[in-house]
Amino acid sequence: MSVNKKAVPMREQPPEVRKKNFNEVPYGYSEEEALEEANRCLQCKNKPCISGCPVNIDIPAFIKAITEKDYQRAIDIIHHTNSLPCITGRVCPQEDQCQAVCTVGKIGEAVSIGRLERFVADWELERKLKGITSNEDYLNKIEKNGIDVAVIGSGPAGLTCAADLAKMGYNVTIFEGFHEPGGVLVYGIPEFRLPKAIVKAEIEELKKLGVRFITNALIGRVLTIQDLFNQGYKAIFIGTGAGLPKFMNIPGENLNGIYSANEFLTRVNLMKAYLEGEYDTPVLRGKRVAVIGGGNVAMDAARTALRLGAEHVYLIYRRTENEMPARIEEIHHAKEEGIEFLTLTNPVRYIGDERGFVKQIECLKMELGEQDSSGRRSPVPVKGSEFILDIDEAIVAIGTTPNPMIQRTTPELKFKRDGEIDADESGRTSLPGVFAGGDIVTGAATVVTAMGAGKKAAIAIDEYIKSLKQ
Ligand code: FAD
Ligand code: SF4
Ligand code: SF4
Repeated sequence: MSVNKKAVPMREQPPEVRKKNFNEVPYGYSEEEALEEANRCLQCKNKPCISGCPVNIDIPAFIKAITEKDYQRAIDIIHHTNSLPCITGRVCPQEDQCQAVCTVGKIGEAVSIGRLERFVADWELERKLKGITSNEDYLNKIEKNGIDVAVIGSGPAGLTCAADLAKMGYNVTIFEGFHEPGGVLVYGIPEFRLPKAIVKAEIEELKKLGVRFITNALIGRVLTIQDLFNQGYKAIFIGTGAGLPKFMNIPGENLNGIYSANEFLTRVNLMKAYLEGEYDTPVLRGKRVAVIGGGNVAMDAARTALRLGAEHVYLIYRRTENEMPARIEEIHHAKEEGIEFLTLTNPVRYIGDERGFVKQIECLKMELGEQDSSGRRSPVPVKGSEFILDIDEAIVAIGTTPNPMIQRTTPELKFKRDGEIDADESGRTSLPGVFAGGDIVTGAATVVTAMGAGKKAAIAIDEYIKSLKQ
């Protein structure tokens, strides 16, 4: 059977237009485009793509349902293992996961599994928003068991764990430190990649399942883990992520105008600077901005700075583009929008003006040396290669670690050296009844791996609670 080697492209806003607005960049497939792309799937007998998906969606089955225009069946198959498909269809690093092992990828471009997932998820969302379908019948069938479980953190790990437990009949309460639930999905990933309305709609679904949200509730400060057990929660899931930014600790890093990407993106997202003219958000709108890092967070910060009015944005990364951890699509989009990539470059100090604001950044050129423990060749400074760039804002996106708040108030819980919780494959920690998953266990990872961890923990929590009754 011959197959078109080229995937059906997704239409998107042209770079010149989109870099001045916060609207979503890709438009999503039309029905005709989705059908054409779905027909590229070979329906492989050994189904390699399923093992490439951290939540093991039955990919060939949902794609087959699309080819038969049975979109309800397609979304039902996806929902079987993935409760947030509108989100994963947009932000999953598919090229490293399901699509990396797609058979068609060996002879041409892999089947666009993520785009097809987005197509059916958006199809369902639109129908729900228009009131054409609802899951009232399904919700009415859930048998409540009256047992309380607490979930700390409302990112993808916490939301997935809560949804699965609620479907099993538990009374689930999510405690979220911020005033809005969603974790990195709302305060990290920008509107132009993941519209807030989509995350909001997914959260509304959880509320319909009976999940209770308590926001502005920082566990480890207002309440401890022990307090939650004392309040009657039979088990606790910790999904607090890894939101504490790392810095380079170089001279001048305390100058005004230098942000962590975490603070910069949180200000723009949660304090709504992206709604131009509607909110007077206290965030610097630099004209010449340097972003340090090469991951998704760095790309998001650079593209956000551009949309806030920057005239020139440098992306400074110490290795080459090949080693960048960001998704290929995001690198491509950033370049199209005019972000200048300075690879094999490392900042060594910031220089301030008389008011204490950053005005320049000094960098060194690097070259690649021996492989380090991560398997990547480590960057080595090139002697005498220093150069200076004029800037008025810098955003540091070189990684994050877990916030130590719960660690400080739960000394009996075992943590790893870098502050991650020590938990097994199913999320069991050193404390009976306490489970954990997502970035707080793995360190900064991906949305779908956090969801997978939330799912496994929900099963383990159910087993644990059932074992208490015996
Ligand atoms: P989080 O999403 O971090 O959620 C944790 C939640 O817990 C937060 O809401 C936090 O406020 C809350 N919390 C923390 N401490 C407490 C406490 N003590 N009490 C109560 N609540 C607390 N991944 C991808 O797959 N694709 C991408 O394109 C992508 N882009 C990204 C872009 C950015 C800017 C960032 C920052 C990350 C990106 N990621 C991406 C990574 C991905 O978002 C994370 O791996 C994922 O969100 C982790 O989920 P989580 O549930 O473990 O934690
Ligand atoms: Fe691929 Fe992510 Fe969807 Fe799994 S959840 S099929 S990895 S896009
Ligand atoms: Fe279809 Fe690719 Fe999966 Fe084969 S590996 S079933 S072609 S998506």
